[in-house]
Amino acid sequence: MLELRGVNTFYGQIQALRDVTLEIGEGEIITLIGANGAGKTTTLMSVSGVVPPKSGEILYRGKPIHTLSPDRIVALGLCQVPEGRLIFPELTVLENLDMGAFMRTDKDGVKRDLEYIFGLFPILAKRRRQAGGTLSGGEQQMLAISRALMARPRLLLLDEPSLGLAPLVIKQIFEIVQKINADGTTVFLVEQNANLALKIAHRGYVMENGRITLTDTGQALLANEDVKKAYLGL
Ligand code: ATP
Repeated sequence: MLELRGVNTFYGQIQALRDVTLEIGEGEIITLIGANGAGKTTTLMSVSGVVPPKSGEILYRGKPIHTLSPDRIVALGLCQVPEGRLIFPELTVLENLDMGAFMRTDKDGVKRDLEYIFGLFPILAKRRRQAGGTLSGGEQQMLAISRALMARPRLLLLDEPSLGLAPLVIKQIFEIVQKINADGTTVFLVEQNANLALKIAHRGYVMENGRITLTDTGQALLANEDVKKAYLGL
């Protein structure tokens, strides 16, 4: 579904991605793990067109997208939930969700998706008229994911959804990510919480200093001695 081939991405003179090659199959949950500053967020930013690569290729369903603008990439069905949630704090939950659907014209579909989201996150239905900024951190993460879902993505790009959340809330969010995937959305999950991310992933990639250093199934990476030492604290 998505393929990165030899991607090199820079911030000015600083090279953040080095020859990054990875692929995501339709229906998979793929996770990218790595330490602070390894280049995980930059990988997502390159896919979503916010920080396009200097060289290499990014193909979506076989067609190059690395030359497209971010809004064209969203329109193709790739939707990013940025790190730190970035919801609109002054707008209500419903208004935030409307923002996610602003490019859609299928009113019935939007209504159905809203019901679907309220089924996934009943707490958001309860808080629908509340300002986004008054929600808890976990609820804001749920809202950020839901806003992306309102654009009806084929591929959901999640940047550190566990950041700053309590273990129980993280568990709940990861279960919902699995449910979203089971319902037909492919997921690219960037995480520092390697343990949980690898547990729900079909396959994973390990990134160090802008390079992919290891790839395998989620289960195999969980059992890998180097991964255990470096990322699982075992
Ligand atoms: P984190 O988990 O801390 O978000 P990460 O793995 O997502 O880390 P990136 O944010 O992709 O890593 O950063 C990769 C490298 O690019 C780092 O060396 C970082 O300092 C650098 N970098 C990131 N954003 C910028 C920017 N806007 N300008 C300059 N350098 C940047």
